[in-house]
Amino acid sequence: MPKPSFIAIDGPVAAGKTTIGRLLAQRLGYRLVDTGAMYRALTWKGMRLGIDLQDEEGLSRLASSTKIEFVPAIGYEEGCCSVFVDGHDVTTEIQNLVIDAGVSLVSKVAGVRKAMVELQWGMAEGGKIVMAGRDIGTTVLPQAELKIYLGASVEERARRRYLEVIERGEAADYGAILSELVKRDEIDSQRSISPLRPAPDARMVNTDGLSPAQVLSQILEMMGES
Ligand code: C5P
Repeated sequence: MPKPSFIAIDGPVAAGKTTIGRLLAQRLGYRLVDTGAMYRALTWKGMRLGIDLQDEEGLSRLASSTKIEFVPAIGYEEGCCSVFVDGHDVTTEIQNLVIDAGVSLVSKVAGVRKAMVELQWGMAEGGKIVMAGRDIGTTVLPQAELKIYLGASVEERARRRYLEVIERGEAADYGAILSELVKRDEIDSQRSISPLRPAPDARMVNTDGLSPAQVLSQILEMMGES
């Protein structure tokens, strides 16, 4: 295939989208946009302002009045970029279990999705982009020449998330992480707008038992780049 300029990576919680997206973007010299971080950033702001996460109007207003930016931070170990909300660096704060528990309520709101997708279109302008999320292949970049849908068993994904939490030095309970992950996947796949699902033309990649390097090489092979 000719080298794709728009690459979509979708999949459920902890399928490896950001890790693989980062490796792929680094390899190709593309930008990575982790759209999950945008919904997390908005959730962070909503919680900080004490907005009820069931208040759809309040969340929609918040989304259209919030500035979310990615600022390149070469070498940042969690991804390509730092995430800023209204000029405030929230990169670390948005990756915690409190945000995990609230983000799917925020991301199912129509006004929130509309504002985030418009921002994402702006970020994708010019191509040479890897965008990771839930609805990138179906809604945000349906024109992407390469669409990857990453999957892995729920136990494997919970194990990865558990190790991430431990590595951050937070207390982790595998059972609680597993049930939160299942709940979040359920909300994300059952919402009425842009639910989590593979685009009809997505290539399915099961990452169970594979290292990030092995997944990367499968994707590069699809592109004829290996
Ligand atoms: O990928 P990550 O786990 O950081 O995503 C956090 C949440 O953001 C997801 O559970 C989902 O509710 C929401 N999300 C979304 N659409 C995207 C990316 C993330 O609804 N494109």
